[in-house]
Amino acid sequence: MGNLVIGGDAPVSVQSMLKCDPRDISSSLRQLRVMEREGCELVRMAVPDTEAVNTLAELVRKARVPLVADVHFDHRLAIQAMQAGADKVRINPGNLSPSGLRQVLRASFQRNIPLRIGFNSGSLPRDLRSKRISERLVEAANRFLQRLEIPHKALVFSLKASGIQETLNAYQQFSDQYDYPLHIGLTEAGPIPEGIVASILACEQLLLNGIGDTLRISLTDSPLQEIRTARALLESLGLREGNVKIISCPTCGRTNISLTSVLTAIRPILFQLKKPMVLAVMGCEVNGPGESMQADLGITMTRQEAIFFKKGQIIRRVPRFDLLRCLKQELESWR
Ligand code: SF4
Repeated sequence: MGNLVIGGDAPVSVQSMLKCDPRDISSSLRQLRVMEREGCELVRMAVPDTEAVNTLAELVRKARVPLVADVHFDHRLAIQAMQAGADKVRINPGNLSPSGLRQVLRASFQRNIPLRIGFNSGSLPRDLRSKRISERLVEAANRFLQRLEIPHKALVFSLKASGIQETLNAYQQFSDQYDYPLHIGLTEAGPIPEGIVASILACEQLLLNGIGDTLRISLTDSPLQEIRTARALLESLGLREGNVKIISCPTCGRTNISLTSVLTAIRPILFQLKKPMVLAVMGCEVNGPGESMQADLGITMTRQEAIFFKKGQIIRRVPRFDLLRCLKQELESWR
């Protein structure tokens, strides 16, 4: 997809979705930029009508990451999205007519545009209602593949339920049978923290079993939370290298500055660092100097100043108001 490889030995890619009005070009572009800066590698957008296709065409011209058009019900929009330059189209066979589905498959095959075939527990064939959700998901995928009339190889599948065990079973059964790349995640996982907990429990199991090529942590929250959670999960599982390990204290009544604001402000820089780094950001002198000295770069706040440590040595002391500027300076020199 564009410059991104999905499947095989390629790293698991982080995906999230634009959540603003897809007819509003400037809001969509603004949100796209924020997501790119946060490290989103694959941005999906809902395409519910032709106005949204126009936005997609505009974003395609300006995006630095591949764009996925998410289309339901109207197969013509899927084809228009391909004509507008979408790098991939996501459809749910459960809500397209058989003839519409055939047309979308043919168009993407002829243009060599990957399709994500997304099966969701909420839109499965009715005649399978007596079966368990995981079986229904896999059976729906089987039927789709049995009826596939063309040798379309650029397909990614997803089989999402909102329950953890059903999702795990469905992905495991499908990957026992097929070699297609898989997009993983829970559907309708919920808000923070419930959505994060459930998504991590499901995706961690799948990833540890070698299942998953793209990952979305679906949350009733901003795309930034989805991207950060997905990246943190991949890093914790050792599936991402070359990034920054952050050590920061939980804060308490002794904290001398808002560590949340500091970490939020520097996050976009951290994603761009190429060399591995351990960064400590500590709120006071209780545990600050100890942790900061063990890090590659450490900052300990006192009431009056921020003390900077590099590789165990104090390198500078700066007034509190100048902390962010100096920290960004140090991080830039680490690139
Ligand atoms: S390092 Fe200081 S501010 Fe941070 S949690 Fe410990 S005592 Fe509180």
